[in-house]
Amino acid sequence: MRVLVVEDEKKVAGFIQRGLEGEGFSVEVANDGETGVAMAEAGTHDLILMDIMLPKLDGLGAIQQIRKKGVKCPVLCLTAKDTVEDIVAGLDSGSDDYLTKPFAFAELLARVRALTRRGGDDRGAEISYADLRLDPVAHKVWRSDQEIDLTTKEYALLEYLMRNPEKTLTRTMIAEQVWDYTFDSFTNIIDVYVNYLRKKVDRDFDKKLIHTVRGVGYVLKEE
Ligand code: CA
Repeated sequence: MRVLVVEDEKKVAGFIQRGLEGEGFSVEVANDGETGVAMAEAGTHDLILMDIMLPKLDGLGAIQQIRKKGVKCPVLCLTAKDTVEDIVAGLDSGSDDYLTKPFAFAELLARVRALTRRGGDDRGAEISYADLRLDPVAHKVWRSDQEIDLTTKEYALLEYLMRNPEKTLTRTMIAEQVWDYTFDSFTNIIDVYVNYLRKKVDRDFDKKLIHTVRGVGYVLKEE
């Protein structure tokens, strides 16, 4: 597993690098946003850890550029800000999860493991629901034979919905299954991701498949 750490504080970068290398990860470090984008562009990483306050180009701008260049690997934001707005802004720019500084290494490691674990563990045969089709080996999704381009977490979320069609899935269930841990009363991340998925899966089609169960969660169904 190769991890790119984009962090300008040398002490923090060193702490993360030593810790992850001790766990068997191979780690590269960039000290500013521009260098981070240039290194990420190679597309050889399994995970990017992105600080938000960075010289030259801030972390959110860097993530946007990385996504624009078609790099799909998961991105974990490291942020000193802990307001909901900032976190949602981070998710909107294309990151998959966030961690608020200061953090314990054990918590960072848990999130790194959750993000680098391949969603679905390549569990065999294609699955389909309505006109949606998902190939768990190739990690590809089609609707009406049109391929849908999804990020790692969008894919994991859709796979979970497709493996449990016509069942109401609560935000807690989704957080545990897709992110591997429960959010302490913060579920905006789920709503943000469902909205991304809707834009890609439902927006251009008359028949909507992803439905909100008010106050509870979401359900994949034909209606
Ligand atoms: Ca910083």
